[in-house]
Amino acid sequence: MNVCVIGSGYVGLVTGACFAEFGVKVICADKDADKIDMLERGEIPIYEPGLEALVKRNVAQGRLAFTTDTPEAVRASLVVFIAVQTPAREDGGTDLGAVEAVAREIGRSLNGYKVIVTKSTVPVGTSQRLREQIQQELEAAGSELKFSVASNPEFLREGAAINDFLRPDRVVIGTDDEMAAAILRDLYRPLYLNETPFVITNSSTAELTKYAANAFLATKISFINEVANLCERIGGDVKAVARGIGLDGRIGKKFLHAGPGFGGSCFPKDTRSAAHFAREHGEELSIVEAVIRVNERQRGRMVDKIRRAVGGDLSGRTLAVLGLSFKPETDDMRDAPAVDIIQGLQKGGAVVRAFDPVAMPAARRMLRDVAFCEDAYEACLGADAMVIVTEWNQFRMLELERVRALLARPVVVDLRNVYEPGPMAKAGFEYHSVGR
Ligand code: NAD
Repeated sequence: MNVCVIGSGYVGLVTGACFAEFGVKVICADKDADKIDMLERGEIPIYEPGLEALVKRNVAQGRLAFTTDTPEAVRASLVVFIAVQTPAREDGGTDLGAVEAVAREIGRSLNGYKVIVTKSTVPVGTSQRLREQIQQELEAAGSELKFSVASNPEFLREGAAINDFLRPDRVVIGTDDEMAAAILRDLYRPLYLNETPFVITNSSTAELTKYAANAFLATKISFINEVANLCERIGGDVKAVARGIGLDGRIGKKFLHAGPGFGGSCFPKDTRSAAHFAREHGEELSIVEAVIRVNERQRGRMVDKIRRAVGGDLSGRTLAVLGLSFKPETDDMRDAPAVDIIQGLQKGGAVVRAFDPVAMPAARRMLRDVAFCEDAYEACLGADAMVIVTEWNQFRMLELERVRALLARPVVVDLRNVYEPGPMAKAGFEYHSVGR
């Protein structure tokens, strides 16, 4: 079976490489010629652990190729995945411009029966709308070709994307069409044999499932952040509360880490989009709306926390910010809390020195007047406080004596609770964390 994936970003490239790993022949298309050039030279445009080796192996074995020629990729394939971006609009809705442009291009390129699958995260009803747009293109060309549409939302996490794709908790397929369901089941056969659970439903339900999953996970984060804020008032310890509730199997331990709130390319836009399309359908997702508000406030609270830690005034203070990507093991800076936090610090008059193991090239494009450093220690040199914003593993085992000697004042603001208050006090630090 031949497959093409249109859009070779975080999701498209991982999807293409992983299907190739299953033994399928895959073409990844993208309109970004620089990206395709890089991929053809064997370079990977994003940082994702394990992706480079996977891509190289499958290219070498002739199962994975890249092109800017989307029509050609469509014509060569039975299954066509759409994996282009679906960013937020100003009003919180979803900008479907890229998805719709691709759907029309597919419509103009069809040369036989195909299954067209949305992997991009799209509001409920989009797959049906894409069907109409493809049909319009066929009718305009006087073509009677048949095609199916399906929704196959992606649940991978950046930083663990390959494992998530090859060993998913579940695969969700939404289609109103038996033929499409059978072809997609066949494509995913390696996972089927693996006893991965499959949820096969209609396309609107599959689309909603993706939003419901992200909204639920975001809810856990905003929930524990509110509990953390309360802990700070009453002298509680949010890590103990999280453990105390997380050990209850009905609640679960994951996504109960207090911190600066969720960021990245998915949760912020997907929660806003879900609230937006629910309202369009006459329903209010009031919990999701509260989750968004709590999250937006949390970044400002982190700036206040840092301000208090350096004596109540940011003006003229120098801060060493460790970690910029929205989470560890990725270079993705989209909606990263670090951006709002750094800008908030700068607004208060602080000078920022920053270090991130992989996200600095992306961060340089988004932040001004930041001194980007070679490592965590260089960032700490002469700073009034060290602030941990993203919990990269290398920040969990810093040489604390060296840090203390480099800092102008021994202040640590740990927004990810990676250190413990007792040992940090013993090591001579004035230590601030979240919810403790
Ligand atoms: P991305 O921005 O990294 O990649 C999108 C790619 O599509 C870009 O390379 C762009 O050049 C290409 N593109 C845009 N228009 C095109 C066109 N007309 N023809 C060919 N290529 C085109 O985006 P992403 O992070 O991979 O996200 C893609 C979708 O997957 C989004 O809907 C997102 O919400 C969803 N998603 C993302 C993640 C994640 O962790 N990043 C997880 C699950 C779902």
